[in-house]
Formats: sequence, structure tokens, C-alpha cells
Amino acid sequence: MRYQQVVDEAELLTALSDPAAAILSGGTDLLVKIRGGVAAPETLLDIGRIPTLSGIRESNGSIEIGAATTETEILASSIVQETLPVLTTALAGLGSIQIRNRGTLGGNLANASPAADSAIPLLLYDAELDLVGPNGPRTVPLDGFFLGPGKTALEPGDYIRTIRVPIPEPGWCPFYHKVGKRRALTIAIASVGALIRIEGDRIVGVRFAAGSVAPTPIRLHAVEERIRSNALTEEVVDEARRLAMESVSPIDDVRATADYRRCVVGDLVARALRLAP
Ligand SMILES: Cc1cc2nc3c(=O)[nH]c(=O)nc-3n(C[C@H](O)[C@H](O)[C@H](O)COP(=O)(O)OP(=O)(O)OC[C@H]3O[C@@H](n4cnc5c(N)ncnc54)[C@H](O)[C@@H]3O)c2cc1C
Repeated sequence: MRYQQVVDEAELLTALSDPAAAILSGGTDLLVKIRGGVAAPETLLDIGRIPTLSGIRESNGSIEIGAATTETEILASSIVQETLPVLTTALAGLGSIQIRNRGTLGGNLANASPAADSAIPLLLYDAELDLVGPNGPRTVPLDGFFLGPGKTALEPGDYIRTIRVPIPEPGWCPFYHKVGKRRALTIAIASVGALIRIEGDRIVGVRFAAGSVAPTPIRLHAVEERIRSNALTEEVVDEARRLAMESVSPIDDVRATADYRRCVVGDLVARALRLAP
């Protein structure tokens, strides 16, 4: 296996024309797969020193996060803490300090695990991805980027350059909860994030996303559409819980049963609504 330290995006684009090459960012997913015999790239393209792929900045009402920015760097960002609290909470529970020091946002998304912790907040915040490939740059919404476990809208030769997150208006109540086997260093059995806006007794805005309960991280659009503009009553909370349980398609695995995951999602959706006012 060959290792190549890539210095800029032009070199990366050229190097990615080799189908046997793979991007190495933090390596916390890829190196595990290589060791396990699940991936066998001939060339590792280390993008960690490409300056245009790292860093966090505010531009035109959005937060732009370079794909190779580490989770630790994102957690330390005051603009992210102030404007995207669900992202901060979710990343604080991803892996361990050592994993977050290496792991990057682009790697977490490109790996496309149904349990990817950053995907839940980024789906809630309507994030978009700036991709670059042989046919030039393009922007895709994150909602639609995940196609299945380990499968994304990335075409051969593509890479993620930036994750762009519109800064939400004030007034959203943030919610995030990840259920795992332990409190730390744990992959989600199920996770739910929510952004809820209440005016008077009415739900004027609502977004839910869930992880580890479908082949990809998902937005719970059916729940959102059903309860938006309703008064926040116990009946509406129960309806949201029922619809959330119907909207997911979890599996039984070593971590939990499908039935348990379904119940957790329903309960967390109900909890998010009860905590919102
Ligand atoms: C012990 C341990 C605990 C973990 N705990 C969690 C957890 O709690 N929650 C969680 O969500 N994850 C967890 N992970 C998984 C992993 O740490 C994260 O998914 C991390 O964010 C991956 O980022 P990375 O930079 O290390 O990716 P890498 O391993 O470098 O890359 C992952 C994949 O993405 C591709 N890639 C990377 N960057 C780009 C890019 N810019 N454009 C296109 N493709 C790209 C790579 O080619 C590779 O296929 C854990 C991993 C370990 C080893």
C-alpha cells in the first residue's frame, strides 16, 4: 500500500482519478476497515494538510466547515457552540477524546454509517455539502446524500470540500439524545435530534432526525408535517410518538433489537416535544 501526503486540491483531484486510491482523513474508520480486510486501497491520499479543506468560517449567513476539520476543532469553535448547539452536543458524544482529535466531519459523513453522530444535527440544520469531482464542483443537500449503509451520492473521483450549514434564526429549542450501551465510547443504539419552535401553545416549527434506526440517518418528515401548526397537547405528543415509531425501519443486531430501537425513537420524540416549551 502506498501513502501520499496531498498538498492541495488540484493534486487530490488528479490522484482520485485512480480508482484504487482512497482518501485518508483522520483514518479512524478507514484504517479499521483496512485492518479488518473490508477495504484494500492501493494508495492512501492523506488530505490532512490541505489548507482549503480545514477550518470553520462564517459566510453569507452560513457556517462553512472544511471536510477535514476534526471533531475536536469543531467542538472548540465558539460560533458553532453559539449557533449549532445540537452539533456540539452530538460531537461531544462521538467516540472518545482520542477519536475526536483524529476524526473529521467529512470522514464521518462519507463513511455513511446509519449511526454517524454528526449526521443527525446536520440533517436538522438542513446542511449542504460542497462536492468536487471530475465534472467540477456541485452542491447537494445532506438529506439525500446517504443512499444506504456505506453508500453515498459521492461519484468516483469525488470528494467533500465543505459542509455548509445555514445559521438558524433564534428561537429553536434544541434537543439531542443518544442511547448506547455505555455513556462513553459507544455507537448509538438509537439517537434522536430535534429543533422545535413554540409560539403560545402552537408548534410553529419542528424538525426531527434519527440515527441507527434505518439504513441511513434520516429526517422524520412525516412526523414533522403531521404536527406542524398544531397546539402542543398530549394527544399531539402521542401522535408524534406513534408516527415516529412507524417512520423508522430498524434492525435487530448485537447492540439491540428492532423493537427496542422503535420504542426509543418514539420516546425520544415525545421527550423532545415535552421539553420544548
Ligand atoms: C473506537 C472508535 C469509536 C468510534 N465512535 C464513534 C461514535 O461514537 N460515533 C460515530 O459517529 N463514529 C464513531 N467512530 C467512527 C469514526 O471515528 C468517525 O466516523 C470519524 O468521524 C471518521 O472520520 P475520519 O476522518 O477518521 O475518517 P476516515 O477514516 O479518514 O475516512 C472515512 C471514510 O470517508 C472517506 N473520506 C474521508 N474524508 C473524505 C472527504 N473529504 N471526501 C470524500 N471522502 C472522504 C474515506 O475515504 C473513508 O472511506 C468511531 C471509531 C472508532 C475507531
